[in-house]
Amino acid sequence: MARRAAAFVVLAVAAGLAAWLLGRGAGAPWADAEPEPSREAADWHRPRTRERQAEREAMVRTQIARRGVRDRWVLAAMRAVPRHEFVPRHLRSRAYDDCPLPIGHGQTISQPYIVAYMTEVLRLKPKEKVLEIGTGSGYQAAVLSELTPNVYTVEIIRALATQAAERLERLGYKTIKCKVGDGYYGWPEHAPYDAIIVTCAAGSVPPPLLKQLKPGGRMVIPVGPPGQVQQLVLVKKDSEGKITSESLMAVAFVPMTRRVR
Ligand code: SAH
Repeated sequence: MARRAAAFVVLAVAAGLAAWLLGRGAGAPWADAEPEPSREAADWHRPRTRERQAEREAMVRTQIARRGVRDRWVLAAMRAVPRHEFVPRHLRSRAYDDCPLPIGHGQTISQPYIVAYMTEVLRLKPKEKVLEIGTGSGYQAAVLSELTPNVYTVEIIRALATQAAERLERLGYKTIKCKVGDGYYGWPEHAPYDAIIVTCAAGSVPPPLLKQLKPGGRMVIPVGPPGQVQQLVLVKKDSEGKITSESLMAVAFVPMTRRVR
């Protein structure tokens, strides 16, 4: 009897351990043991619409969750933000397709999975401050604003920046701060940031962005030659200011340019 009970305990412990290991997501660099942040009582305004909800649910299920994005707040954000409002009118029917889409001026809105993945690796806690370089359509900024009200975003093409700011305002994303400028220099007035997300490809990590990252901060950035495949890199600054970085996956982003136009 005692032996059977002991065997049961051993089995239960083994099952628990296996579940714990699986739950950590085999080698996912951001799947650490921190408790999940609470956003139940989010006290900033987050717009809601049921328009094309079924397509967003399908997008999250088939393109994002299936490929391993697990953070439930990121999945909820992807279900909430009406992506069709962020693409040009003639491409609205394709807004939830599994691909990037052109947004004018030679730029693109990233594939939904990439938006979700980059958001997840930032491990944003509620109220943390995040800087985005490359506002584009404003979609990624809207997704970030589901997780924290403190979103700052910089765009180098004036026409896109103006359009995105108007769109975000019209849709009710009123907590996002937009600016026109060369994001290579970050946005020093609001630094330091808990997280930085760069959505254009840089040849190397811009030193001003590293400087504007808080100790304990995370940055995700595509690094590599323009027009080719780049590496999506996760850069971390520890509490002593020491920088470490790791490559996450191959990606193809539009290049970081250096002239405001
Ligand atoms: N995050 C965007 C996708 C952006 S595409 C979205 O959700 O729609 C990349 C954007 O980076 C383009 O709009 C491009 O104009 C912008 N960009 C390129 N170089 C930049 C720079 N130095 N500073 C700021 N933005 C830049």
